[in-house]
Amino acid sequence: MQIQDELSSHFRLAESQKRALGKLNITTVYDLLYHFPNRYENIADIKLIKELKKDDSAIIYGTISGLKIRKAFKSRTPIAEGYVEDLSGKIKVMWFNQPYIAKMFRDFTPVKVAGKVGGSDKNPYFANPEMTAINTLPTEEGLLRRDPQDSQTLLPVYPESRGITSKWMYYAIQKIFNSGNLDELYDPIPKEILKRYYLPTLKTALIWIHTPKKEKDSISARKRFAFEEVFYIQLVKQKDRFTNKHEQALRVSVDTASLKTFTGRFPFKLTGAQEKAISAIISDFKKTYPMSRLLEGDVGSGKTAVAAATVYVTATTYPQGQDFGNLQTAYMVPTEILAKQHFQSFISYFEYLPIKIGLITSSGCKKFPSKVDGSKATDISKAQLLKWVGNGEIPILIGTHALIQKKVSFKNLAYVIIDEQHRFGTLQRQKLVRKDNIVPHLLSMTATPIPRTLALTIYGDLDLTLLDEMPKGRKPIITEIVTQGNRDQTYEKVREKLKEGRQVYVICPRIDEPDPKKELALNVKSVKEETKRLSSDVFPDYRVAMLHGKMKPKEKEETMEAFIQNNIHVLVATSVVEVGVNVPNATVIILEGAERFGLAQLHQLRGRVLRSTHQAYCYAFADTKSKASIERLKALKSAKDGFELAEFDLKIRGAGELYGKKQWGLTDLGMEAIRNVKMVEAARKEAQTMIDDDPNLTKHTLLSKFASEKAKSWHFE
Ligand code: ADP
Ligand code: MG
Repeated sequence: MQIQDELSSHFRLAESQKRALGKLNITTVYDLLYHFPNRYENIADIKLIKELKKDDSAIIYGTISGLKIRKAFKSRTPIAEGYVEDLSGKIKVMWFNQPYIAKMFRDFTPVKVAGKVGGSDKNPYFANPEMTAINTLPTEEGLLRRDPQDSQTLLPVYPESRGITSKWMYYAIQKIFNSGNLDELYDPIPKEILKRYYLPTLKTALIWIHTPKKEKDSISARKRFAFEEVFYIQLVKQKDRFTNKHEQALRVSVDTASLKTFTGRFPFKLTGAQEKAISAIISDFKKTYPMSRLLEGDVGSGKTAVAAATVYVTATTYPQGQDFGNLQTAYMVPTEILAKQHFQSFISYFEYLPIKIGLITSSGCKKFPSKVDGSKATDISKAQLLKWVGNGEIPILIGTHALIQKKVSFKNLAYVIIDEQHRFGTLQRQKLVRKDNIVPHLLSMTATPIPRTLALTIYGDLDLTLLDEMPKGRKPIITEIVTQGNRDQTYEKVREKLKEGRQVYVICPRIDEPDPKKELALNVKSVKEETKRLSSDVFPDYRVAMLHGKMKPKEKEETMEAFIQNNIHVLVATSVVEVGVNVPNATVIILEGAERFGLAQLHQLRGRVLRSTHQAYCYAFADTKSKASIERLKALKSAKDGFELAEFDLKIRGAGELYGKKQWGLTDLGMEAIRNVKMVEAARKEAQTMIDDDPNLTKHTLLSKFASEKAKSWHFE
């Protein structure tokens, strides 16, 4: 048996099993070895019902019956309850506030129940246990398979797919272990590194993760694999970083005095964080290689001003070998509305200077200043604009995706700014890189507060600057967590604000009408249904409209424009809709199903109403009675900023749940690793040292191959 062999050449697989393995992306022996259990079941916990005692943590197998819903005597809380029975006896099981459970299981379905025993020894019951339907009950003999000789009491539970069981995987892995292959396995992580961080070798880690004797062993093994994954990522990122350091950039000369004049004309004083960000960028400009920097700052923290100040520096630098002209900047934003807003702000910052500004979007082009009236912008043809960009006459070009079309070519492109960078792919970014050997400085900006460890990992090739200070004088947003039953009161308050002329956002978790068959979905507000309900029942005197991702781009732009013009008073939208748009008159935001979102995401959503001098309000509607959920939401009222919330989220929910592993293509383990600051920093440091010493990894060819193989499954946007 070889590690790269197809599983089917060593195991007899039924069609259904092949399909199931395919779904789990397992085809080779290697894949199976790297399919890790997500937990372990301690068979010492498996009990017969008659053995159960109060306070036991136990697992039982039996059939469920008699499920029904009743209301608690005083609180009227709905309770689902029934009985589980095995050959030895019967026990009551109940769930509070989860009435749908009563409808999920038919009588006499075989189930596995895991939880803590409550009640008394005489009258035990399970309250809120985990219950899953299973295909067949284990035989009593199987249940009592507790051979004192067998020290293997922790049984792995794998992510399964229909057609393949944990048990099958367990035995298949045993067979691989017994084939003697583990001794030949190449361990990609150098021994010295393993030693430095007390991590087990690959062979030991594989045995420990699949068949741990002690919980401690499985934890060490998981740590090793988590490190491995983060290390691969860091290697790839540090390599990119190294390559970038050997690229050529256009030299930008910095005149601090004239920059002071420029920023001194802003209608506000820069925050300390803005000053620091500008200095960091300027010192990058002085280097011979291009900057690669991520600027992360809450909505409203003033990223545009940082961009403008640094654009000023490039636009006032002569191209190499000239004593006239300007270096050029491309400023890319995700939507047309944003492009127009930025064009306007830039005009106000640059109007006193002889520096032309262009705007390019799919619906047309503009130039400032107009020849006729020097204080205004004018429409120009695309051909004309491209000509002026091509010959270097327009130093600043702001635009949407239209900016990266093939036809757009710059004479002296020195600086690229990408706003809300997660909206663009790497490929799109690369298109902005010049074709000759000169690579522009890159500033990526984002308002998505992600924890530092995550940023260091997925954006490991970029330098990171945080704008962690809000401009002075902003009134903090008033946030209320609205629990069940307090809806009407809140609508009353919102109506007051509408009466005063303000506008309102309502954010719903989904677009479509919930599927009535899906019990669990019943409580989830949808944009379409909510728009109907709000316009007919709640705010009949105001214009309510919706905005969501399934609408055509044109419809979206029109709706947004109408909202900006105050022709729409209440805008019902999904969470993914239009970031960064500035509508100062919108001061109220309602977040439906708030308990479903990460805190950092909620924070980012409410940031939309933080742009005004009017008092802003955020109402987070929580359709849950879970105390823990409501406590978690309360952090929205106390946290200092988005970063604090992002870290808080990470601590209580874990990265996997927060961002969804699909988002970046990391495994669950990799996402877990993000919680561990020390590990992320260690992996980064080791990767940096290795690349500095051996940039092409010629001493570690297999490691390099593994890392680039792995890199194919990531998509860090
Ligand atoms: P974002 O970081 O979300 O892109 P913007 O750059 O759009 O934020 O800035 C939001 C608002 O704050 C703008 O109206 C801008 O003029 C204003 N602003 C930026 N910096 C400051 C500051 N230092 N003091 C006061 N207001 C500021
Ligand atoms: Mg912005």
